[in-house]
Amino acid sequence: MMKIIIFFLLTLFSAGYFVWAVNSRYRVIKSGRPLNRSDRPHERWKYFCTQVLWQKKIRDFPIFGVFHLFFTWGFLVLLISSLDMALAGLFHVRIPFIEYNEVYLFIRDTAMALVIVGVFGCLLRRSIKKPKWLANNIMAYVILLLVLVIVISELLFNTIYFSQGTSSGISGASWLVLATSKLLKDLNFIIGYRAAEIVWWMHFLAMYSFLVIIPNSKHLHLVFAAFNTYWHSLDPKGALLPIQLGEEKGQTYGANKLEDFTWKQLLDVYSCVKCGRCNNRCPAQQSGEETKPKKVNGRVRKHLENNTKKTIGEIFEKEAIWGCTTCGGCVEACPMSCEHTSKFIDMRRYIVSSNANIPLEIKQVFKGIENYGTPWGLSRNQGIGYARINELGLPTLTENPKAEYLYFVGCTAYYNESALKAAVAFARILKSAGVNFAILGEDEGCCGETVRRMGNELLFQTMAKKNITLFGNLGVKKIITICPHCLNTLQNEYSQFGGEYEVIPHVAFLENLLSRGKLKPLNNQPELVTFHDSCYLGRYNGFYNQPREVLQAIPGVSLTEMSRTKESSFCCGAGGGRFWMNAETGNAISINRTYEVLATGAKVLCTSCPYCQIILKEEIQRIDPDRELIIMDIAEILEASL
Ligand code: SF4
Ligand code: SF4
Repeated sequence: MMKIIIFFLLTLFSAGYFVWAVNSRYRVIKSGRPLNRSDRPHERWKYFCTQVLWQKKIRDFPIFGVFHLFFTWGFLVLLISSLDMALAGLFHVRIPFIEYNEVYLFIRDTAMALVIVGVFGCLLRRSIKKPKWLANNIMAYVILLLVLVIVISELLFNTIYFSQGTSSGISGASWLVLATSKLLKDLNFIIGYRAAEIVWWMHFLAMYSFLVIIPNSKHLHLVFAAFNTYWHSLDPKGALLPIQLGEEKGQTYGANKLEDFTWKQLLDVYSCVKCGRCNNRCPAQQSGEETKPKKVNGRVRKHLENNTKKTIGEIFEKEAIWGCTTCGGCVEACPMSCEHTSKFIDMRRYIVSSNANIPLEIKQVFKGIENYGTPWGLSRNQGIGYARINELGLPTLTENPKAEYLYFVGCTAYYNESALKAAVAFARILKSAGVNFAILGEDEGCCGETVRRMGNELLFQTMAKKNITLFGNLGVKKIITICPHCLNTLQNEYSQFGGEYEVIPHVAFLENLLSRGKLKPLNNQPELVTFHDSCYLGRYNGFYNQPREVLQAIPGVSLTEMSRTKESSFCCGAGGGRFWMNAETGNAISINRTYEVLATGAKVLCTSCPYCQIILKEEIQRIDPDRELIIMDIAEILEASL
């Protein structure tokens, strides 16, 4: 009787604490800003199955992924068999129908084996073959050992139970128990009885410890991560969430206090398993900067749990907030569907809307746009590209209203020589292929990508709405662009304000012209070329193969890849407004990427984004001015071969 009372009291205490602690975190999550994530349930369930049940992202790390899968599935089965074990230990009965059910016994024994293999696999990985991004801490080992105690005690209990003849009808389906029982066949009945008592208590004491530890550790992901995955963003990858802006002047928006984050952003922090995959993918963190995506979740959680009431400005360093290039590597890598980039943007939004501590370079960009409509702080006709683009004699949409495509040239080409060359090369290719296109000429304004990522949502929305009205008046339906940032904003973000277009990046347009035989590259270009994937072209919009196909169509070109390429590519350091910052000190991310370019030994670095081209060119000149390395946009390389 005493055993039953102690068992129920301990169960009540640990389960009660668990429910209370989880509920208090749930209430914190609920206090976040509202956000609708209940749309498209079919797609959500599909993603849930691939990421939670099949653990696709974790299994991208082959051996560990399999261990983790064993672990998860095995442990779920053991929760049911623990109930069976509780009944057996307390009342000498088992769950009706399953004691001799061969399917159940087989699944249970297999689950025990899988969890044991999984735990040892994880222990070996942590102690012998630890990836550099994985943080080791004592709690991770404690949890693994607790799981081991839970499963081994269950195995021993069932083995003794069987060896003592209590489950005489057990079949070969219970293969693990049968195998272990051979080792214990000579066990004395009294000793066996005592041993069963000990392992039974070990099992449940480990379970109770687990219930108390979970809410206070990274293992809270066992409770929340499945929900976080279900409610992941289904918006286009590169789209930032719009903010409903009010009419009042001086209104602030974004995140200043922790509860200014959305409930999904708060759910992220309790779902994070602190694995470090996001840091491993983060160009800022990898380049020794302050921005660390893993820390965003960690710090927010710490302050939520300590109820510190601190503002974001007190929790995060300015450098951490402005260091994010919005490359999206962290979000892509996170197996728990955390959304780090939106948190950085929301922090910036508050800083900008409250007009406090905005870095000087950022202020200048805003001023340039407010006065001249571009971040360069000069009007279009003051830019070096204005006359050269005019010389091409490209028709404007007013002159050629029947044009099939709007060629959105983008600001950079008007003010920077490298970007201008790319824009001109692409225009000449379009002409030679007989494409019916037109430009906006002096009417073209900045798409607003940069200011949105700098947190100036008000300015962005003003610019977007102005462009959408202009496009509407001119009947624009299809847009081609040489800039992946324009591509992303025009394609994925203008639709938030009613601007729906088919936007095609120049790499895809060129690949299409080549495949239709409209372009015939004949001139040999015997060069070793390496291609840098722009985050906004590749990661956000999936254009990985087209640029490579264009390069491979050029006779003589031999393509060599950098160590980090395609989905795992490394940002050039210019995104998220960073192009306009760190002009004097240099940008640690672009330095890092430049060394990867140089390591390939390529003679040509091919880019597909004006920002990447400019920042990498500057860095190469800074690091190795004597190096014979030409940096060219893909349109320039192709044009040279036509
Ligand atoms: S945010 Fe995601 S990737 Fe980063 S540590 Fe947490 S779970 Fe891992
Ligand atoms: S978006 Fe890129 S730069 Fe920003 S935190 Fe994530 S990985 Fe780092």
